[in-house]
Amino acid sequence: MAIDSRDEKYYKAWMTHHTVSRRGLLRGFFKAGQQTQARIEHQDIARQTGRPPQAIIESLFLRLCNGCGECVSACPYGIIAMKEGKAELQIEYANCDFCHKCTDICQTGALESQIVPDTGLKPVIGTSCLGRMDNFCRLCEMSCPQRAIIFDSANQVTVDKTRCNGCGKCKLACYHGHISLTPLN
Ligand code: SF4
Ligand code: SF4
Repeated sequence: MAIDSRDEKYYKAWMTHHTVSRRGLLRGFFKAGQQTQARIEHQDIARQTGRPPQAIIESLFLRLCNGCGECVSACPYGIIAMKEGKAELQIEYANCDFCHKCTDICQTGALESQIVPDTGLKPVIGTSCLGRMDNFCRLCEMSCPQRAIIFDSANQVTVDKTRCNGCGKCKLACYHGHISLTPLN
């Protein structure tokens, strides 16, 4: 579906003057007026998969990503793939280091340099995690550059989703395979 010219013009002008998170971007759109607000709010949808770390809100991403594959080629770690014609982040064998090469090459506005980098993926630590049973394994906690994984004195683990930026290092650090990454909405 083509984005209408009024939305696109407003979006580009707004992005030129603001540094925003995805939530901030959404708020910015709301200021465009009641009519636009209702339309964007109605159209925004839950993210079902990981996206490159500076992807715009999902409803607009799905319209602006044209499946050209430039970001796939640009990513030095090969963690972007095309699925159903849209760029998807697949963190299986390498993490995202936020090099923003994908954003730099994107010509459509689907990836935006002013968005705070966050893949939108958050770790879910399985019940069989060895660290839950004793205080020996702390591989994920030690690997997290954001200090978002915390084990308490009873070996219970929590993930601070406000600190996590979805880099995926914890998943790769857990060679037992007890961490999966899921999209946070
Ligand atoms: S920021 Fe860099 S490592 Fe992360 S997905 Fe984009 S190109 Fe790949
Ligand atoms: S995804 Fe990255 S930032 Fe988030 S908990 Fe894992 S290592 Fe930390």
